[in-house]
Parts: sequence; structure tokens; C-alpha cells
Amino acid sequence: MISPEQVKRVREAVNKERLLDTAVKLIGIPSPTRHAGAVADKLAEILSDDGFDVERPVADWPEAPAVVVRWRAGEGGRTIQFDGHLDTVPLEYKPPRIEAGVLYGQGSADMKGGLAAAVEALRALRDSAVLTRGAVLLTAHDHHEGPWGDSRQIHALIEEGYVGDGVLIPEYLADRITVAGRGQAVLEITVRREGERVHEVLRPEGQPDVIAAGAEVVRRLNALNLELANTSYPYVGSETVFIGQIHSGEMFNQSPVDCRISGTRRWVSGHSVDALKAEFQGLLSGVAKDTGTLIDGEFIFLRDGFRVDESHPLVAALQLAHVSATGQSLPLGAKPFVDDGNSITARSGSPALSHGPAALGAHTTDERTPVAELVRVAEVYALTAIGFCHG
Ligand SMILES: [Zn+2]
Repeated sequence: MISPEQVKRVREAVNKERLLDTAVKLIGIPSPTRHAGAVADKLAEILSDDGFDVERPVADWPEAPAVVVRWRAGEGGRTIQFDGHLDTVPLEYKPPRIEAGVLYGQGSADMKGGLAAAVEALRALRDSAVLTRGAVLLTAHDHHEGPWGDSRQIHALIEEGYVGDGVLIPEYLADRITVAGRGQAVLEITVRREGERVHEVLRPEGQPDVIAAGAEVVRRLNALNLELANTSYPYVGSETVFIGQIHSGEMFNQSPVDCRISGTRRWVSGHSVDALKAEFQGLLSGVAKDTGTLIDGEFIFLRDGFRVDESHPLVAALQLAHVSATGQSLPLGAKPFVDDGNSITARSGSPALSHGPAALGAHTTDERTPVAELVRVAEVYALTAIGFCHG
């Protein structure tokens, strides 16, 4: 249980100005994926000025060592982890600004705003002394956004033991408790034929047609997608294959030598990634054989699917915290995107729930987050720590 007195003490300890100051400082330093060194240094400086002991594990990325704080509230109890990424997608940089109760700028939604709220939750727990057992582990890192980042830093942190008993990730998703999510791979396919580009009427007889073969690849992948749609899984719905790009040809009467297709494959937790790769390669070699073309397929694994046990204490703690902070309970649901929570849950066994501000514009040049949402996230995170760490 969380008492009204505990809620009051957390509310009083969460400092909106200090939270926003941190968010603005983080957003003020551009940090496209693989270049988060300067912003990581800034976060380490902020935390150390706040009186926390900061560790900087390299975690497989010397360009931007991770930022870690382990703060122990008292003997016994569980450790809750707040994890966030410091890198942003490599779009045109937008500096921070606060206008009419909204925080703007690159990373305000994805996810320096949420990370600043998690930092504020840590400070509020320390300042209010309302947490008496357990510990908070704060981790921040680079290499998140795919395909530029390959998750090496979160993987290294997991391997080096920087994992709590339960993990919260303040990504831009506010309306559910994410107990399931699909894994994702990027599909890159190149259909080729022997020989040079040639005028349509000068083609040698029997020359393979890469556009027709590419169309056949698309047709078979779509058929697979329709078949996958027949099976529905709790929370996440179906597995999918999706085609987002197809490129071939230079002009209307020239026979091209290649056709490039790309898309995604999404699957549920427990499905063997090796089996999915084999299915994909089998489909492509079938088309190559039937069309006389050469087909290369890359199945670029991003993150695995995951499932969190609904009865895990972290789920109950987040629900109780949300009710205490807002008066509303959250439905259990699926995480629509993949994030570091997939890797943490699938690799470490500790459940990671993504819950953060109701922010807009992630992966665009118009990111924005209501300030009230950041304050809410700080309160919910601190209250979740109370419910979870006291155990
Ligand atoms: Zn993110």
C-alpha cells in the first residue's frame, strides 16, 4: 500500500523547475546515435553536482561511456532500475524551449524529457526519505536508435550486471502497462540477374526479369503475412511481414539488373529467431529458383519479443503508483514499438515496463512533451519505487 502521506511527501519533493532544468540541459546538447558522449558527460556532471556517486562503465562504447547511479535507500528490499537512452534519431537538430506548458526540442519526447523525469524521481526519493528499503539503479546510454545503433551498450550493461529486479523505461507511452511486445527485424532483399543493363528490345532470350521476380517476392511475403494474420496472441495481436520500399529500374525501356526491397518482420516472444530466418531464406530461394534470378536476403535482427508475467510485483507497483498519482488505473497492453525493454526482459529475466510521458512527435523534427506529463512521470516513478522496493 502507498499511504496518502507518502504520496504527499513525494509530490512535495518532486521539483518541476529542477526537472525542467535537467531536461533543457540534456536537450541542449545534440546527440545523434553513436555520438552521445557529450550529453552523457553532462548528465554525469548534473548527477554528481546533485551529490550522487556516478559510475561511467564503458559498456562496449568508449565514445560515450554509460552513466550509472546506484543509490541505496536502506537495507534489504528490491532494486528498481530506471533506464533511458541519451541518443536521438539523426534528424535536423531542434534546441530546447518551453512554451505554454510544453517542452519542445530534439529528445523532448524520445527520450531526454522522460529521462529527466526519472532523474527527478531519484532525487525526490532521496530528498523525501520516503523510501526506506531497497535501491534505485539509474542507467543512461547511447546506441539505442536503430539501425544506426545496434544496442551494444545496453547489452553490455546487462552482461556486466547493471540490471535491477524490475525496470522502468520512460519512453513516450503513457496509456498502458506494457506486459508484452513483439520482436522486430529489418528485411533487406536484393534480386539480381547476370549481365549488363540492356535496352528492352536487345535482351537475350530467356533473360531473367528482376522486377517480375521482385514482384513475386512481394506476393509471397504478402501471402505469408495473410497466413500470419490467422493467429492472434494475447495483447500483441498477430505476427507480421511488412514491405515498405521497392526500387528498381532506370527508365521505361531498359532492363534493370537489380531490384531492392525492404521491410520488417515482427514476431511474438518464444518464437525462434533462427526458425524465422530460415523461413525467410527459404521463401527467397524458392523465388530465385522459380525465376532464374539471384536473391540475397538480410534478416537484420533488432530486438526480440518479450512477455512479462502479469503477477510480477513490478506490474502491481506501477499500477498502484499510477492510481495513487492520478486516480486512474491503467489497462494491461502491448508495447507497439521495440525498445531497450525488449532486450532487458528477454536477456536478463528482469521485467522492463515502458511507461513515460504522453509525448508527441517522436522520430520527427517536431517533438514535444507537456510539462505536466513529466511531473506525473516523476511522481509515478517515485511511487512505483516505494511499492516495489519495499517488497
Ligand atoms: Zn526512445
